[in-house]
Amino acid sequence: MAILNTGINQDKIQEMNRSLVISLLREEGVCSRVQLARRTDLKQATVTNIINDFINWGLVKEVGFLSGNKGRRSIGIALNTDIYRVIGVRLTRKNYSVGLFDLTDKMHLSKSVETDSNDDPRVIFQNITQTITDIIKESGDCKILSIGVAIPGPFMKKEGRIVLMTEVPGWQNILIEKELEEIFCMPVFLEHDANLGAYAQLWHSKDIKKSEGLIYIAAGQGIGAGILINGELFKGTLGFAGEIGHTSIKFDGHKCECGNRGCLEKYCSSIVFTNAVNREMHRSEKIKLRQIAELIKAGDEICLEQYKIACEYLGIGIVNLINSFNPDTIIIGDEMAHINPQVMIDTINKTVKDKVIPEVWNNLKIKISDIKNDSILHGAGIVAINEIFKRPAQFVNID
Ligand SMILES: [Zn+2]
Repeated sequence: MAILNTGINQDKIQEMNRSLVISLLREEGVCSRVQLARRTDLKQATVTNIINDFINWGLVKEVGFLSGNKGRRSIGIALNTDIYRVIGVRLTRKNYSVGLFDLTDKMHLSKSVETDSNDDPRVIFQNITQTITDIIKESGDCKILSIGVAIPGPFMKKEGRIVLMTEVPGWQNILIEKELEEIFCMPVFLEHDANLGAYAQLWHSKDIKKSEGLIYIAAGQGIGAGILINGELFKGTLGFAGEIGHTSIKFDGHKCECGNRGCLEKYCSSIVFTNAVNREMHRSEKIKLRQIAELIKAGDEICLEQYKIACEYLGIGIVNLINSFNPDTIIIGDEMAHINPQVMIDTINKTVKDKVIPEVWNNLKIKISDIKNDSILHGAGIVAINEIFKRPAQFVNID
């Protein structure tokens, strides 16, 4: 039997225990100290010490009494949402959003700004930092602990920069993570937008925790997938995993900036879909995605037909994912899913059912995300909160 030659020191164990307790409180909302000890398998004295520290640091607070066994009452503990905040940023090809979140991922403030693909990315980046500064000013006395950033397209995790954003060149020269850390003097965490969509699903749905293989698909201005295996994100060596937008569905298809041909996102991203509708409608003035959604609702046949075509292509991409990962659940979110969830799910179900073996189909659930707000922006807040929960003492600067 192999003997591990690395030990875990006392500080590390304390950090892991704190992380366990604060994560459980987040999941459960309110717990007594006894419940926390029982659920984490920690000694009650350990839980008491952790909670005392958390109360002193302002991370949790006592919230009245819970009734327990034999009529005993115990004090309820919950996350303190009054003091600490994180910033979430979402960058897309056509806009950026900045949100202010408390430790439960509740959004308190947000701003969204449209951008133009002809704008210099350096100027857009400066505008993002200005919007973050404005939000920090408006957050009042709250202490902001970290920033999470959702970015589209492949990116280098270690360097904290985008490698390729199709339709919008120039971002690869900006070290987003490093520059934001220097400007705001706080930790910054960059993550692929689809991975953050998957995080948001995991946080806000208890069923998903039980899933062995869940894939969240961000069907927006690009197409990406967040792959959760037993609740953990599968990221790949460089963090590129889930770049399904650049898997080919036509080997001799349209040329893509990534070097491949027939990339999925060249057939079903919201940008490609909007262009296809405008081409078919021959209008003098181009219409936007929001107007197309309204036209589909009103029964416009050209828009509906183009939407079904895009959904079918997405379904073909999903079949490739299913045959690669054999997930039990697929959740589709972002701009394309919001246009008409019913048409999308009907079209994708039909496409997938026709193309996968029956045993796989019978053990698969495909649904549209039911998180009302921008789940990827929420995910950007969640990645920032998650890091705090991994090592709370370091973030609140005490110890
Ligand atoms: Zn590509």
